[in-house]
Amino acid sequence: MKNFVYNGQPSRVVFGAGSLQYLGREIEALGANKALVLSTPEQRASAEMIADLLGSRAAGVFDRAVMHVPIETAREAREIARKLGADCAVAIGGGSTTGLGKAIALDSGLPILAIPTTYAGSEMTPIYGITEAGIKKTGKDARVLPRTVIYDPELSLSLPVGMSITSGINAIAHAAEGLYAVDGNPIMDLMAKEGMAALGRALPAIKKVANDMTARSDALYGAWLCGTVLGNVGMALHHKLCHTLGGSFNLPHAETHTIVLPHALAYNAAAAPEAMLAIAGALNAKSAAQAVFGLAKDNGAPVALRDIGMKESDLDKACDIAMQNQYPNPRPLERAAIRQLLQDAFEGARPG
Ligand code: NAD
Repeated sequence: MKNFVYNGQPSRVVFGAGSLQYLGREIEALGANKALVLSTPEQRASAEMIADLLGSRAAGVFDRAVMHVPIETAREAREIARKLGADCAVAIGGGSTTGLGKAIALDSGLPILAIPTTYAGSEMTPIYGITEAGIKKTGKDARVLPRTVIYDPELSLSLPVGMSITSGINAIAHAAEGLYAVDGNPIMDLMAKEGMAALGRALPAIKKVANDMTARSDALYGAWLCGTVLGNVGMALHHKLCHTLGGSFNLPHAETHTIVLPHALAYNAAAAPEAMLAIAGALNAKSAAQAVFGLAKDNGAPVALRDIGMKESDLDKACDIAMQNQYPNPRPLERAAIRQLLQDAFEGARPG
């Protein structure tokens, strides 16, 4: 076994169908009395339901979370939290809402209780992102890690099937890259394999029956494990490419992950054979790249960047950005091969 460093991250997880009923108990355990409830405009009704559940412990609802946390929104939410005298924030939603909670915590140290309704995994990481003047800056700070996470699969039933598939593959991407991370460790490897296997089972079942509670529970369990991997070890080529494509070309987050992952795995396959075996094994297939491609295609997710708004004329620029700032990756970054990877992802080619 190789040497490793393992950092336990302090967060409390309450998991299971119906576990939203413990919200009051969990707020009390945080020592909080006045929660500002956060959501996107689309999930306003869920935020109001949370505020009702909290009763006198609700300070108010802020429903303007959007993708990539614009600094203006973060400032507005921080100001409202201060004015209302909030002593914690409850974020109900996906990565965008959790991200807003993190931006508040970064500034104020307010504890965050997250109630995830997608599989993005942000609730398990100390990573934050804030966008200022069109540039998204990311950083790591222990203060932004939600203190408590309530995973209630009943709340994920409303996630449309298409988004469930892409969000689930977004989670698989964290686990896949965790398996070849330079700072990987055996605990994260276990979580990555278990998380991918749970999602690999769950996504086709959700595609068949959207409100299959066993599948919804498996998917959220997988999302928890994969998010934990994201929060503990460094990501590589795949996440860098998706960050570039999302940030510079405004492509949707989960779909971009879904399309790029098979190609990033094919690129790294020969340089990380053990990780590839583990990914293929977890997904019950012979090849890691083909397993992920099949999971997307067979369940109706997009497989080509051209179908989600990427322009072919921007592929050279995307490649240039991806080649800037070298970072650890199993296979060195080779310009011609990365450009080909982007072309394949653009066209939706089946990985070799
Ligand atoms: P999202 O949070 O933007 O949600 C997408 C849409 O789905 C929103 O309109 C949301 O309200 C809606 N939605 C969410 N759950 C729903 C449900 N159960 N039913 C109906 N509608 C629902 O999408 P996301 O993919 O979860 O998050 C993407 C963002 O999170 C990106 O900005 C990404 O960079 C960030 N992220 C950050 C980390 C991190 O560690 N910091 C990790 C993963 C993602």
